[in-house]
Amino acid sequence: MNVAIIGSGPSAFYAAQSLSNHDDINIDILEKLFAPFGLVRYGVAPDHQKTKNIIKLFNRVLDKKNVNFFGNIFITKDISLDFISDIYDAVIIATGASEDKKLGIRGENLKGVYGSGEFVGWYNDNPIHKDLNPNLETNTAVIIGNGNVALDCARVLAKQKEELEGSDVSSKNLNLLSKSNIKRIHIIGRRGPKESKFTISELREFLGLREFSVKVNFSRDKLKELLKDEMIDTRVKKNLELFDEFYNQSHKEKEIIFDFFKSPKEFIGENNVLEIKLTKSNHEEQIIKSGLVIKAIGYKVSKIDGLEMDKTNNFYLSKEGHITRNIYATGWAADNSIGVIGTNKGRAINTVKKILSEVKPVKLNSTQKLKENFREKKINFISKDMWKSIDKFEEENAMPEFVREKFTSIDSALKILNNN
Ligand code: NAP
Repeated sequence: MNVAIIGSGPSAFYAAQSLSNHDDINIDILEKLFAPFGLVRYGVAPDHQKTKNIIKLFNRVLDKKNVNFFGNIFITKDISLDFISDIYDAVIIATGASEDKKLGIRGENLKGVYGSGEFVGWYNDNPIHKDLNPNLETNTAVIIGNGNVALDCARVLAKQKEELEGSDVSSKNLNLLSKSNIKRIHIIGRRGPKESKFTISELREFLGLREFSVKVNFSRDKLKELLKDEMIDTRVKKNLELFDEFYNQSHKEKEIIFDFFKSPKEFIGENNVLEIKLTKSNHEEQIIKSGLVIKAIGYKVSKIDGLEMDKTNNFYLSKEGHITRNIYATGWAADNSIGVIGTNKGRAINTVKKILSEVKPVKLNSTQKLKENFREKKINFISKDMWKSIDKFEEENAMPEFVREKFTSIDSALKILNNN
């Protein structure tokens, strides 16, 4: 059987892992960027190297004889989905959710207002977002949303150079971050501390920040009341207990401020954002002056012609992973963009099981036909071996105490490959 997987993030690799256990299945992974690993390379925060360790497992999958990698191939821009569907027995869309959800309020397009996908992409050297150049000269940053991505963004902004050692942040971004003027980071939740989606280990990291203390804009007495609830969920209880600890922290000059029950109403500015108008639950308005806003409110897929969207408009409509014809989906392409990396494993295994039970292999020479198409269209792809060399260069070029120095464009990566 010949299977094409579109995308090379965690769900793609979990699907490839499951398929590759069958020697008679040939798996071709097609990735729009030159480098594999999607969310793990470009989404997980640079200082969360333990989470990025899953790449070791994905590399073992990539090493298998029946798994191929074609980087720098953009389905549907370079090659149509129909063509892929014609030459393979099955296609798995594992493209993740690469677009930021929108708030739909005035001023959202001002410079300095970014989706977390853009901002996280920037600090992770994603070739698409590497030139974002966020305004770090502002004194105040505002992050909208009470999920773990909001915490990632705040932590990266708050960490000093030495605190980022051991990460894979690039020399260019480290230099920009170390010159940052940001002294206040507001994390804005439209609901309360009880409803926040944070997890405890991510929240706990805020206790150890060198230059930032944490302020909780919520009555401590009310927090204690919430903690009295015996039915409270364990995750929520742990979060609330930690918020309680934050009140005891000694105040530092720089602050991360948790603001609850406030919703963004408008971003104000000429070309660049200057102020954020918020409405509180009592309908009062509040203005925060800020030149950097990050909307960490979740993600959705990029639409692909011919694929129907779910009613939420956030992911492709599928029936247990089957979209249409021989096209399947898994991971955040097939469901809401929530959960940790490992959550996608079970979903990928289920999609693979469905394919194995439904698809009769009839297509021949799929990889060959794909490569012929590249030749005809003069498309340069990054092969598995080329990626291995790029990966090695990145590690060798790392600053002392850092993990790697990522290439931020295919051209710079190819230049090094051609010179060696
Ligand atoms: P998330 O956990 O779903 O959080 C999104 C936040 O945005 C929620 O607080 C939500 O509030 C808020 N929001 C949504 N629409 C809004 C609006 N119109 N106005 C104001 N606020 C709005 O999403 P995420 O932070 O993007 O994370 C995605 C997934 O990746 C999550 O499952 C997360 O746990 C996971 N992740 C894990 C880690 C880790 O384990 N270290 C790191 C990063 C991400 P409501 O609750 O009121 O809707």
